[in-house]
Amino acid sequence: MTGYNTCSLLSCATDDDRSWDMEDYAGPVAKWCPGCGDHAVLTAVERLLEAEQLPPERTMFVSGIGCSSRFPHYLRTYGFHGLHGRALPVATGIRLRRPDLHVFVVMGDGDCCSIGAGHWIHTTRYNPKMVALMLDNGVYGLTKNQTSPTSPRGLASYTQPRGAYLPALNPLTATLGVTNASFVAQTGDWLPAHLLATLRAAYHHHGFAFVRILQRCPQYTDDLFKEAMRNPDLIELLVHPDGVNVPELESLYKNQRPHDPSNLHEARRLAEPDGKIRLGVFYRNEDLPVYEEVRNVPVPAATEKLALLNTELDRYAV
Ligand code: SF4
Repeated sequence: MTGYNTCSLLSCATDDDRSWDMEDYAGPVAKWCPGCGDHAVLTAVERLLEAEQLPPERTMFVSGIGCSSRFPHYLRTYGFHGLHGRALPVATGIRLRRPDLHVFVVMGDGDCCSIGAGHWIHTTRYNPKMVALMLDNGVYGLTKNQTSPTSPRGLASYTQPRGAYLPALNPLTATLGVTNASFVAQTGDWLPAHLLATLRAAYHHHGFAFVRILQRCPQYTDDLFKEAMRNPDLIELLVHPDGVNVPELESLYKNQRPHDPSNLHEARRLAEPDGKIRLGVFYRNEDLPVYEEVRNVPVPAATEKLALLNTELDRYAV
């Protein structure tokens, strides 16, 4: 095992003779509703772990509260199923203390964009090396159909039965508006090849990779992506060598837009709603400060720590 301060994540992942299949990562049978997009995302994540050969004992999934936050229970890696909206600060703490771990965060739209919104903004700015998956089904599903920040205006729920009063928050433009944002992508759970390619691009990004996954919830927002699933003309794939390219989708998805993900201005423009659902990498910048690399807090030696502790204790001596 390589010391965690001296190896890159990729070399760490391949520095022993062991190998893993998808089954090695699979936990108990997931208890999401039949047809829930979370099943597809879980499969894609298992494929990602296998493709990257991430050692299960060095892989960490952190979640908050919500349907998708049950993720860590269904993977045979380490996991932390925490408090509502608090997955990102927990994951940042893990990343700071254990930079040898491959850290993933799984959040729903309510979890990330409502109660966790402050953490979302600041983690984007801190830019720690981790992958954040935001599974967006436009509703609070676990608490049985409540309007969430990303519910489309007019969508009826138990909390706003006449339809959501306000326009939906756009997680892409919101993230792209944060100082030091370094990776923003969007994909859909019903496109397994695109989903996997996007997860791999996010995993290889050096910094905070925010991936919004459009996620089907047949229980409460069944119609949300139905039209886009039936009609490929409603989808536009962003393609670029530094983004996501899925050649097998080319024959079905004719709308392909070359987009250089280093262009932040264009990324923000493309993230604005205009009738098309755009999938791919909107923005990527590997040259921005990564918090754990720039915070530069000297780690005291053991003797120094002991002396500091004794000095502190002496203050309370009577
Ligand atoms: Fe999935 Fe919706 Fe069921 Fe939750 S309520 S498990 S999001 S289908």
